[in-house]
Amino acid sequence: MTLKYTDVSEFPQIIEELQSSFSNNLTRPLNYRKKQLEQLYNLLDENEQEFCEALYNDLHKHKTESLLGEINMIKQDCLDAIEHLDEWTSPEYVEVGLAHKLNRCHIRKDPVGLVLIVGAWNYPVNLVLLPLVGAIAAGCTAIIKPSELAINTATTIDALLPKYLDQKAYKCINGGETEMTNLLKYKFDHIFFTGSGAIGKKIMLAASKHLTPVTLELGGKSPVILDENINFSVTAKRLIWAKSFNSGQTCIAPDYILCTKKTQKALLKEIPKALKDQFGDDIQKSPDYARIINQRHFDRLAKLLEKTKGNIVVGGKIDRDDLFIEPTFVENVPKNDRLMEDEIFGPIFPIVTVDNIEEAVNFINEKEYPLSLYPFSNDNSTIQYILNNTRSGGVTVNDCLIHATVPTLPFGGTGASGMGAYHGRKSFEVFTHKRSVLTSPFFSEKLLEGRYAPYKETNYNI
Ligand code: NAD
Repeated sequence: MTLKYTDVSEFPQIIEELQSSFSNNLTRPLNYRKKQLEQLYNLLDENEQEFCEALYNDLHKHKTESLLGEINMIKQDCLDAIEHLDEWTSPEYVEVGLAHKLNRCHIRKDPVGLVLIVGAWNYPVNLVLLPLVGAIAAGCTAIIKPSELAINTATTIDALLPKYLDQKAYKCINGGETEMTNLLKYKFDHIFFTGSGAIGKKIMLAASKHLTPVTLELGGKSPVILDENINFSVTAKRLIWAKSFNSGQTCIAPDYILCTKKTQKALLKEIPKALKDQFGDDIQKSPDYARIINQRHFDRLAKLLEKTKGNIVVGGKIDRDDLFIEPTFVENVPKNDRLMEDEIFGPIFPIVTVDNIEEAVNFINEKEYPLSLYPFSNDNSTIQYILNNTRSGGVTVNDCLIHATVPTLPFGGTGASGMGAYHGRKSFEVFTHKRSVLTSPFFSEKLLEGRYAPYKETNYNI
């Protein structure tokens, strides 16, 4: 299958139409927003099978993973936004001091305008449609640009979106580097980007020409820290689940493990059983295990395995024709190993041994701020020590990934793992301008006379 790219000659007309719809207040009425959110919900609900098939064809993603990690999250956010839209959009009246007692002061929730939403390939439905929920709820017009690498999913979104959403307000553009470079020349009111740090920098640079604000949802090496007092059987189960989900191609996938030699041994004892329980004797035959997106990423991961100075102790089987990489644990990985340089973004799990939690914390702090952090411990003071002495976008304690599934927890990175956050109400806020409004009554004029020239010293306290 090939993806039909949008011709760049169509961009001016698309942008002009969406800008004009915004200026004409098409997307501002709350009933309109609710209707479009309902339609977005229906788009996912009525075409669940088609989306799941596209995700299977792109990534061999099992239906459960497609529902949990993509479709259900967006549907939930649509329902949440519809239910709370009146509350979110209502003006906030603020406390004022004596000097403003006669003025009415409030904060309006204005939509920012035309927004661009650009997604990555690993959760190719979620990463464009979940932010779109926020854009619609806020009253913006929007262009979404799905990743060109998830070809089947991008084709499905492109075909279905116009059947459900108002084409005067929400459009899908398809393409790769050329199309994106061209698109970024236009002025948007916000750019919401999910992807790599390298492209994130290009987005920010292009946005700076128009002083356009950006949200950057990037990646990083999210560490796991294991204390010695944990339940290793449960820990093994949770780590296998999180690292195998979408074959480790998750921005918040646990990237590597930090623990003592003793803990490494205790964990590795439990891993084979956890793997077998979840994927059977031959993982390649399991219908539940995803594949690597393409040969380029497969080769990148295969090379990491080939070059590591650690020892492969579990897994290691790879099959290029099938884009299959077995969940692979590598023990005694040196701190400066190739596996410890960039985000792995695949099912390879290096274990770096340290003498204690302090050394683990110091090691994390030598790297860029990760998107997530996963401390496992039964001791609250140890967890607090780790949280007080590290930084990361988010944290799940004693498990992985699941903080990202709670709509009331803002999701985003910090430092190199990104800027800004979304999900639930926070998505609405990303695309909303909080506009301060003060209304002064004419009858207060007598009280204001002191502010006018000619100034007198007695008027300083006005
Ligand atoms: P990528 O940066 O290569 O591509 C992301 C998007 O940028 C795609 O839509 C692509 O078409 C577009 N793009 C490509 N070249 C461009 C250019 N020159 N200018 C502008 N746009 C361009 O990222 P990817 O490989 O699709 O995704 C993997 C990365 O995304 C990983 O680092 C992962 O951690 C991160 N990620 C982050 C999150 C999050 O929520 N924080 C979620 C998923 C993935």
